[in-house]
Amino acid sequence: MIELADRFGRVATDLRVSLTDRCNLRCTYCMPEEGLGWLPREEQLTDDEVGRLVRIGVTLLGVTQVRFTGGEPLLRRGLIGIVRDAASLSPRPRLMVTTNGIGLERLAGPLREAGLDRINVSLDTLDAKRFRALTRRDRLSDVLRGLEAAAAAGLTPLKINTVLMRGINEDEAPELLRFALAHGYQLRFIEQMPLDAQHQWDRHTMVTADEIVAALEPFALQPDPVSRGTAPAETWLVPGFVDAAGQPARVGVIGSVTRPFCGDCDRTRLTADGQIRNCLFATEESDLRTLLRTGASDDEIATAWQIAMRGKRAGHGIDDPSFLQPARPMSAIGG
Ligand code: SAM
Ligand code: SF4
Repeated sequence: MIELADRFGRVATDLRVSLTDRCNLRCTYCMPEEGLGWLPREEQLTDDEVGRLVRIGVTLLGVTQVRFTGGEPLLRRGLIGIVRDAASLSPRPRLMVTTNGIGLERLAGPLREAGLDRINVSLDTLDAKRFRALTRRDRLSDVLRGLEAAAAAGLTPLKINTVLMRGINEDEAPELLRFALAHGYQLRFIEQMPLDAQHQWDRHTMVTADEIVAALEPFALQPDPVSRGTAPAETWLVPGFVDAAGQPARVGVIGSVTRPFCGDCDRTRLTADGQIRNCLFATEESDLRTLLRTGASDDEIATAWQIAMRGKRAGHGIDDPSFLQPARPMSAIGG
């Protein structure tokens, strides 16, 4: 087995696959109200092309975990078949989806049957009015029903991802944690990153990891004795609570900006149009779609993928004066 290694000793085993750049929400920190210029269909990988690249990643390059994301991955018509194909690979990768939860009520069961192991649902507020302001759509109840369906289908441990925004939902951290604890979900707060299509991110208004932890003071959080390994979230134990599996309840904070974890990064990313990105913040991509469509062999594609990963930089460089936000926004990279 050859590996997706870089020059700094990191080996990528976690593949993030964006299945579409389209979305049915318009989260203000991600997309403008009018949406974006979506990828033309012919530029998007077909289900078979996605399946082939996932197979190459898993069987030739040491990928052990595949997360399907987007845009909104539940909008991808072939999702169930894509998951089923990935689940039939040997060695079998762990399979996950990151979703806004809309449509999960209907899809949670079929996804579980197809072989999906776990799901992350993004939810930034429990208040319907705020949800409408934040996502520009009136869909909170769909998300809440989706969460219940995912838990009932056994897509556990179920994680909730939350981005806090100053003056919008920053006061809701304790309530969101109480909600997660009551349902046995694991809540993770994510620092807002400079990946919005509008380029409006501002470090000075971003809610920091330190502020998030301070807001959770009433829970008397304890440091987690379990090492985080390559996981991006720093976790804390929440005394007095257990999760759905009866384990001590945890809450996580992903301090991508103020507490970067680049040194432990094990990710490789495939965009919906077949480009490999070695980092969320990479400014260069490697085109596997053209290779796929011009008759390249599996070994040739695997070699191109390896070369793409060797060029990975040591860190995201958000603090460098020369930092440039990548041209693609988060929704087109795959978050
Ligand atoms: N649509 C799906 C969803 O919302 O879960 C999957 C794609 S979305 C880009 C993946 C995750 O990225 C979500 O949890 C979302 O909150 C997060 N996200 C989007 N833009 C972000 C930003 N600028 N900074 C931090 N997280 C962001
Ligand atoms: Fe859509 Fe996810 Fe972006 Fe929100 S964060 S607009 S749900 S892609």
